[in-house]
Amino acid sequence: IEETAYQNDKLAMLGKISAAIAHEIRNPLTAIRGFIQLLKPHLVQLGKDEYAQIILSEIDRANDIIYEFLNSSKPSTPQKSVISVASLLKEVVLLTESEALMKGCEISIKEVAPQMSIAVDVKQIKQVLLNMIKNAMEAIEEVGNEHSGQIEVKAELEEKYVNISIRDNGKGMDKAMLAKLFSPFFTTKEKGTGLGLSVSYRIIKNHRGTIFADSIKGVGTIFVISLPLAT
Ligand code: ADP
Ligand code: MG
Repeated sequence: IEETAYQNDKLAMLGKISAAIAHEIRNPLTAIRGFIQLLKPHLVQLGKDEYAQIILSEIDRANDIIYEFLNSSKPSTPQKSVISVASLLKEVVLLTESEALMKGCEISIKEVAPQMSIAVDVKQIKQVLLNMIKNAMEAIEEVGNEHSGQIEVKAELEEKYVNISIRDNGKGMDKAMLAKLFSPFFTTKEKGTGLGLSVSYRIIKNHRGTIFADSIKGVGTIFVISLPLAT
């Protein structure tokens, strides 16, 4: 419990800092982006169009990171509406399918018990599921090319809860890593923020749900998100 309080403090502080500076960084980034776009034809003429590409994609990445930091700070009262689990999962999978294809992995909805609905902040829960799927794709990517990646999404009924699971056959984790998984800033990625799972954890907790992970190194990982059904 103390650990959790400490982590919430860290996230709250991070939120204040990022809210204060995000605006100040975003404006110059927007200006830079605009001018690079104006310069692009000249760079193309010089045969340096890949420079423009790199600059633009790095600016976009910086913006994404700012966005992720900002999101971790948002006050956490969910704006709830009732949504069917089946349609939520379909939407999320649709959003990730093209990226999955590019990364050589297949994402499929395995089974969804019919007629389950949850009362949730749809934007927040989508963000959680997208975080999970993104991590799964990255874990598959890290295994290498010859590997045929599989991501399976399921939703099963358990009493008054729905258990949404995301399973991948990516690189997996050992027990030590599993233990640190939800800590803010824990990342093993060169370009990671280590915020995806800590923010997801907080969102699910605010929905009176639970989130659980299990993994075997070299085999794969499963995340199970448990949310109360709408009454
Ligand atoms: P980030 O993705 O920015 O590193 P996250 O909070 O999303 O931050 O994840 C934290 C760490 O947990 C990752 O760096 C990775 O090492 C590990 N991880 C998360 N999901 C998976 C997964 N599906 N398979 C293997 N490792 C994972
Ligand atoms: Mg992540």
